[in-house]
Amino acid sequence: LLNQLRQSHKMEAIGTLAGGIAHDFNNILQIIFGYTQLAMFEAGSETLKAYLSELSIASHRAKDLVEHILTFSRQGSYERQPLIVQPIIKETLKLIRATLPATIEIRQEIDSSCPSIMADPIQIHQMIMNLCTNAYHAMRNYGGILKVTLTQTEIMPEDTVFRYHLQPGRYLCLSIGDTGHGMDQSIIERVFDPYFTTKNKGEGTGLGLSVVHGIVKSMEGHISVYSETGQGTNFYIWLPLTETEKPVTSKVYDKSITGGSEH
Ligand code: ADP
Repeated sequence: LLNQLRQSHKMEAIGTLAGGIAHDFNNILQIIFGYTQLAMFEAGSETLKAYLSELSIASHRAKDLVEHILTFSRQGSYERQPLIVQPIIKETLKLIRATLPATIEIRQEIDSSCPSIMADPIQIHQMIMNLCTNAYHAMRNYGGILKVTLTQTEIMPEDTVFRYHLQPGRYLCLSIGDTGHGMDQSIIERVFDPYFTTKNKGEGTGLGLSVVHGIVKSMEGHISVYSETGQGTNFYIWLPLTETEKPVTSKVYDKSITGGSEH
């Protein structure tokens, strides 16, 4: 037990340290990324533009990785509040639209009447980013449709399908689907495992879905995946509704999403 305790303290210390470094590193990356973009505008030759574009892609990837580390080290220090998630989903999709090629169509069906859930806005943003990034990776060769829907649903005591995963009650159901390459059974079984990836080195960390899984579980929700090779993939996330407390106003989560330096 003592060993376990020592181990968990060590992990906690590493987490804090990594979080600190990741945060500073993120700011540096922001500068590299910003000046690369500026240099691309000024660059005279096509070759130079191409090099700068590679630099820009690499620094973007580095930022993704740092964000994963930040999410890990932040686990336990999130701030949950009664939150209306629709604006966060819409804002995040806007950001995603700006970065994806035109070959990817984004469809969204967001029920604007969905009530609040107890959630940290940054975690919600992170979940959507991770799922949509994977969807894009699965479709980037041929293009396709990224579909995001948000509905509310009630799970009844007699819904045996859910009995093992969720308490009866009212839930938000967020689904993120793509028409990409899909997965076979052996991959589906491992998708939520930390460090499981089928992507090239430097492209995938294998942490994206384990982060999403961790967030959903800590919110007493449930995530499931349906996928077919060559057809596409759908992720469904159920999150319990807060029925009592008053939700915060939209200004607060706008700030949380863009205020990356607050970690
Ligand atoms: P990473 O994206 O860094 O590999 P993830 O944990 O996010 O890590 O995903 C793990 C693996 O699950 C991916 O490498 C991929 O094989 C598979 N995967 C996840 N999402 C999808 C998707 N939408 N379509 C096809 N495969 C997926």
